[in-house]
Amino acid sequence: MARQRVVQRTQSVTDDKPRPHFPVTEPAQMQTPFDPNGREFDEALRPTSLEQVVGQSKVVERIRVMLDATHKRGDTLGHLLLDGPPGIGKTTLATVIPRELGVDIQICAGPALQAPKDLLPYLTNAAERSVLFIDEVHRLPAAVEEFLYPAMEDFRVDIALGEGLNARTINMKLKPFTVIGATTRSGMLTAPMRDRFVYREHLDFYEEIDLVEIVSRNAVKLRTTVTDEAAEEIAKRSQGTPRKANNLLLRTRDFATLDSETGEITTEIARHALDKLEIDQLGLERQDRRYLETMIRVFNGGPAGLRAIAHSMSVPPDTLEDDVEPFLLRSGLLQRTPRGRVVTEAAYVHLRLTPPSDTSGSGMLF
Ligand code: ADP
Repeated sequence: MARQRVVQRTQSVTDDKPRPHFPVTEPAQMQTPFDPNGREFDEALRPTSLEQVVGQSKVVERIRVMLDATHKRGDTLGHLLLDGPPGIGKTTLATVIPRELGVDIQICAGPALQAPKDLLPYLTNAAERSVLFIDEVHRLPAAVEEFLYPAMEDFRVDIALGEGLNARTINMKLKPFTVIGATTRSGMLTAPMRDRFVYREHLDFYEEIDLVEIVSRNAVKLRTTVTDEAAEEIAKRSQGTPRKANNLLLRTRDFATLDSETGEITTEIARHALDKLEIDQLGLERQDRRYLETMIRVFNGGPAGLRAIAHSMSVPPDTLEDDVEPFLLRSGLLQRTPRGRVVTEAAYVHLRLTPPSDTSGSGMLF
């Protein structure tokens, strides 16, 4: 595999100072103990080749075809949009792809690109066939998005100089490159932006068996041991999300370090740790249960609008929509209807509350 260069800038680039190039950190070179809050932790557990990516078999298969065909033709990979809930593997795939192609990657995030001038250095620095990864691509301001269109379509940028009568536009040619965009809200992307992505892939929640595999592999990377049954327990309560599985592995490891002489994560330790962390049998966290309780106690189960719920909980609506609702919807505890959010009978049952009597048969309340 070719050594790859990662360039990461998130600040506004308005000066002429040279920008640092950050090399990719190979997990084997990482030193334990990991800082669980640091970027290194996420990076250290991240797969570094397509072969190491667990699950998402259909997506991985299609990406393999894309990469092989691109490689065979000697082309630049077409622009790719990855969408799915947080922690599901979008960044992982976006960093694995350029490694597989043996090209460089630059990483930036939509909200950090406030104006076209912030995006320009990324475009002009993009080497031939390299990848520009834009996280949260749905949060690009309109002016930046419009600036990106000709860069994606014709590999050129139009730079406006001067104002009024003296205004003129110069075209600058760019090297052919690939944009990989990641989004948790593909519905918020404008149609022209979405259309610029030749390839689009949706990443869904993981099967339990895949999360068990991720937990077991990462235990080795963290130089800890976890029994098969404990790995299953962690996987079951990870909401189908690898990042949550990694976090729970790290948290249960703390309990194992203190409670077991060998430091092994056993089923007993895992269950004890997960209970202490207030992660229930379904994998719901305190915030998830608070959401359902607010829906039931304040809104009588719904229908309720997102903003009203967010206001009652004093939590930003985006956090609820991105981090809380996807799993509640997927596990059938919540429904989205044209009139608003509605909790299902299953939510009452899960919270050990008595559902209102008029819900029988429909599976829906109200
Ligand atoms: P996203 O960009 O969707 O928020 P990430 O790609 O950052 O999610 O994934 C978070 C972490 O979960 C990664 O650091 C990695 O350790 C793990 N992970 C994600 N997807 C996979 C996968 N398919 N196989 C193994 N580990 C994964």
